[in-house]
Amino acid sequence: MLKFGQITILSAIVLLTIGVIDFFFEISSILYVTIFLLWFLIVALGSFTMRWRIFTTAVTKGNQNKKQVAITFDDGPNAEFTPQILQLLKSYNAKATFFCIGKHIENHPELAQQIVAEGHTIGNHSYSHATSFGFFRKKRIVEELSKTDALIKKITGVKNTLFRPPYGVTNPSIAKALNKTSHTVIGWNVRSYDTVIKKPTQVLDRIQKRISPGSIILLHDTHSRCPEIVEGLLQFLKKEGYQTVAIDTLQEKN
Ligand SMILES: [Zn+2]
Repeated sequence: MLKFGQITILSAIVLLTIGVIDFFFEISSILYVTIFLLWFLIVALGSFTMRWRIFTTAVTKGNQNKKQVAITFDDGPNAEFTPQILQLLKSYNAKATFFCIGKHIENHPELAQQIVAEGHTIGNHSYSHATSFGFFRKKRIVEELSKTDALIKKITGVKNTLFRPPYGVTNPSIAKALNKTSHTVIGWNVRSYDTVIKKPTQVLDRIQKRISPGSIILLHDTHSRCPEIVEGLLQFLKKEGYQTVAIDTLQEKN
């Protein structure tokens, strides 16, 4: 997929070319509007689709030559559900990745410590996870990321380099901030919709149909259905001979 800049330049060249042709032969203005709308549509969809990599490079799957998958949990740590999930992961000898919100780490530092102590990977999911995060300017995004990294370092001792954008949104401001912070952006290729679909069996069914070696699965350790989904998923992965690893391991080439 082309980058944001290339898409914009290409659209401008097409518009200019049409403009020149229009000088000699009259062209309907609908064509201009259509090109602009196409540009807008690609950019708008691209900001919600990390795997298109329009704004920034993102890891959306791992090594496909090994029967490994990575389960990732967003939006925690959560006092009620994170401990239950950690217990399940331990009993299946599985490792996972937790993209934590800075303000939640502040409220539950003991859970962030437990995540790291039990061999899981912790990552940055912004400080506030504000609904308006996609409209933040570069400076504010850098502040959010730096504040959360500092909390992770202070509380767990881990020097974090991983970032998952809130709502999976990337845009030019986030890309500029990431140029400064140099985080590795981690996306996913199996979206569970666990916060939307109410029946755990339906969520499980959806995930199981989409799993393949190198998959990165998105879940949220913030709701009462999550432990049941995780248990079912871990059973399935064990039965199918998959190893459940943290994102760092999934990216290893050998
Ligand atoms: Zn989130």
